[in-house]
Amino acid sequence: MSTQDLSYLGAKNVTLHWNPGVAELYEAAVRLGEGHIVEGGPLLVETTPHTGRSPKDRFIVEDDNTRDRVWWGGFNTPISAEVFDNLLNKMIAHMDGKEMFVQNLFAGTDPDYHMPVRFITEMAYHSLFVRNMFVRPSKAELRNFEPSFTVINVPGFKANPEVDGTRTETFIIVNFTKRMILVGGTKYAGENKKGIFGVLNFELPDLGVMPMHCSANIGPAGDTALFFGLSGTGKTTLSADPKRALIGDDEHGWTDHGIFNFEGGCYAKVINLNPAAEPAIFKTTRMYGTVLENVVMRPDRTLDLDDGSITENTRSAYPITHIDNIAPGGRGTRPKNIVFLTADAYGVLPPISRLTREQMMYQFISGFTAKIPGTEQGVTEPVPTFSTCFGAPFMPRHPGVYAELLARRVEETGARVWLVNTGWSGGKYGQGKRMSISYTRNMINAALNGDLDDVEFVTEPFFNLSIPTRVPGVPKDILNPRDTWQDKTEYDRTARRLARMFRDNFKRFESGVSPEVAACMPVHEELV
Ligand code: ATP
Ligand code: MN
Repeated sequence: MSTQDLSYLGAKNVTLHWNPGVAELYEAAVRLGEGHIVEGGPLLVETTPHTGRSPKDRFIVEDDNTRDRVWWGGFNTPISAEVFDNLLNKMIAHMDGKEMFVQNLFAGTDPDYHMPVRFITEMAYHSLFVRNMFVRPSKAELRNFEPSFTVINVPGFKANPEVDGTRTETFIIVNFTKRMILVGGTKYAGENKKGIFGVLNFELPDLGVMPMHCSANIGPAGDTALFFGLSGTGKTTLSADPKRALIGDDEHGWTDHGIFNFEGGCYAKVINLNPAAEPAIFKTTRMYGTVLENVVMRPDRTLDLDDGSITENTRSAYPITHIDNIAPGGRGTRPKNIVFLTADAYGVLPPISRLTREQMMYQFISGFTAKIPGTEQGVTEPVPTFSTCFGAPFMPRHPGVYAELLARRVEETGARVWLVNTGWSGGKYGQGKRMSISYTRNMINAALNGDLDDVEFVTEPFFNLSIPTRVPGVPKDILNPRDTWQDKTEYDRTARRLARMFRDNFKRFESGVSPEVAACMPVHEELV
């Protein structure tokens, strides 16, 4: 079967662009009306109405390959092979007479585990996005390239839910038997990267690799650190530290030998980006090759990073080489430190605490963060989110599969584990304020450098978390969150409420974990 044209898919009369580079894609994107070139060099695009992922429109084809291996329910919604086949045929018909962009890329920097993926996209900008975000093969590797998975992304094709069996016009469907992902009805490019992440999360555990929703960097002494966390908790921000080489900002695998990045680029939030606090990321918003999504430009093509009028989720997608200090080959040694990031908008969790092995399992399975109230009418309280493995929308298998891999890997390496709250201090959202990035960085650096090894720790009563009493470069009085609240009764009440949310969420996992892990459940009102 020739894979040099798309006739093997039944696509005819399609003008194909094979592995186009940045300049060609800029020209095509502008010619097709997809975006603009802005001051400093990036390509700027708008993706409305979809300015984020569509997790409710994500489906997995249920068949012999998936029936007993996927943890159905929650974010993993089954769909039939017939629905998939019908949509594929319609998408191919839709391509007739059009131009399509093809990129042959790798997911994964470790040649033992990387997956060759072909992206066939209707939009030139998506082609540039995936070229930035995945690993580009060498010329020799391209000659022998055979895709193991194919993504077909056609935003201009919209499903008709009544006849096509989808929920809305938008769909993201993974078929593990045909080894394809179909995306229609959304221009948001993040679906390309998280779609493939879901595939790796399904397949790598069987090869003994732990797939992780985390960023990673490596210190001058060769010590690797991982930063797990849900969206907005600081994976990208905190992993880009000038003193530590960046391995990757979002998705990694942990093998017997060390860790490797699944990607070759980063996808940073840029709303209100402060050049002093985040110089490396700021610089990418002025560079050739960067894709800026939903950032607002002025008529003279300069950027207004503070304008959230399209969305708060404005993004910069750039090849990792746009960052100065990066780890060669996108790989790292076996992690010495693991940081769980949470943005607790209740202002309850300590800004840094050290976890026992059992607490690590408890927090990993819980996957807590609290989103801040949006612009929705009447929503004045933080919205708690529990997302298992800090990435439930991308994890097709049962959380126990990932939790067991984590326990095994940490046992092997003796990594230290920390919980870092990048969220609120001195009161909940609306009363207190968000922890400063520089304090969070100082706390993390102290933990990674071993500066907390000889420090005294105290245990807080609600979550049993060990809090250091002293951290270089951080005021002492912000380390224990209760000290930062003026109204201590209000702190205790809020802490009990959060403790109860943790307990309610964990009920569904309790029977599947050891009594020691279950005992990490925080204490709430009846008990305090
Ligand atoms: P995603 O999975 O969506 O990529 P992420 O975990 O990579 O999310 P970031 O892109 O790093 O999250 O977003 C964190 C946001 O919070 C940034 O906009 C950053 O400026 C802001 N922020 C404010 N205070 C802090 C802090 N103390 N630590 C980290 N980030 C902070
Ligand atoms: Mn990120």
